[in-house]
Amino acid sequence: MMTVEEVLSSNLYTQQVKKLYKVGDILGLHADQLEALATPERVIQVKIQVQSNDGKIKTFTGWRSQHNSALGPYKGGVRYHPNVTQDEVIALSMIMTWKNSLLQLPYGGGKAGIRIDPKMLTRTEIEMLSRNFIDALYKYIGSDIDIPAPDVNTDSQIMAWFLDEYNKVSGKIDPGAFTGKPIELGGLSVREYSTGLGVAHVTKLASEKFMDGVEEKKIIIQGFGNLSTYTAKFLSEMGAKVVGISDSKGGVLNYEGINVDKALELKRATGSVINYPGKQVSNDELLVSECDILIPGALENVINKFNAPKVKAKLIVEGANGPLTADADSILRERGIPVVPDILANSGGVVGSYVEWANNKMGEIIEEEEAKKLILNRMERAFNEMYSKYNKLGDQDLRSAAMIVAVERVVKAMKTRGLI
Ligand code: GLU
Repeated sequence: MMTVEEVLSSNLYTQQVKKLYKVGDILGLHADQLEALATPERVIQVKIQVQSNDGKIKTFTGWRSQHNSALGPYKGGVRYHPNVTQDEVIALSMIMTWKNSLLQLPYGGGKAGIRIDPKMLTRTEIEMLSRNFIDALYKYIGSDIDIPAPDVNTDSQIMAWFLDEYNKVSGKIDPGAFTGKPIELGGLSVREYSTGLGVAHVTKLASEKFMDGVEEKKIIIQGFGNLSTYTAKFLSEMGAKVVGISDSKGGVLNYEGINVDKALELKRATGSVINYPGKQVSNDELLVSECDILIPGALENVINKFNAPKVKAKLIVEGANGPLTADADSILRERGIPVVPDILANSGGVVGSYVEWANNKMGEIIEEEEAKKLILNRMERAFNEMYSKYNKLGDQDLRSAAMIVAVERVVKAMKTRGLI
């Protein structure tokens, strides 16, 4: 039987197609064109086997979806998660196509997922899994073909194993084939925190448009992985007050303000943030608790038609990919609560990847401060583009405005190629 979470995540593709069709209407695209935009160019399914110390062989399934290459090589992360499905990976690869287009990166969209609970494997088994994944996929990867990166439950060490295995099996020394690598292998220090840096920056920009800035604002962030912890840190530095955080075990609210470093220490020591001083809440309660800005930064489809009417935040920033359903979009628009879409909000990760990839291609190493500036400028430009489209449209939400900019660029490239 499927879990509720599984039903919701397998539905992510439907949600994304709905969002695409909505902007297709506004852009006057016809059904055949929308079909061409929604369909991935290629989806590769692979079987990955891992032998544990006791000799047992475990078998897993993984996918790489290469959604669209009209603007350049496929680009997007690899996630390890027990609920990953093929549909979800396709949906996430489509989100990457729009994200890369919106940010004017020379990339199409891709995404990979392996259906596995990484907590059930040892680090050695994870290494074997990662290397075997590349053995199965290497023909479809390369700095000019498809460039994987970290996503949920994958990190720079996994990228190092990917790159090393890729060199071995393909015979190519191509450091730009993966981004989010350790610094020793051509990675950038900024890539570690660039997603959170970007979320915080976009939150600040949006708060200046829709309220009087980010200072003293009460912020709730769902999730406590790489993205959420750095987002919380940077927002605290900007003078905002993080009042709610959570992880898979539950959440905590503290309206005096949460010290992110202390919460991180607690998470390292006990495996969760739930025992941080304050009121313990479930993840569901956290999303509808009192705050100024809500940042769902963990799972997809968590804000849907059931809880969207109860959200108390005055601004939502999508840290995760696809945390709001299409129904939630309509409800929040009617309620006048602006939502900064994922394709802009969390794009600091892939823009950081772009800087790393461009450096690898040119054989250069950029200074950390310069890289930061480049990432934030690129995001600010996309924010302004989205915001002026939003004002021009008058009666649409921020997601539609951002999607229009992104989809239009892809449509133009496909038209010029004679594909649509
Ligand atoms: N996984 C991140 C995302 O969803 C980053 C992808 C990348 O750097 O290629 O945007």
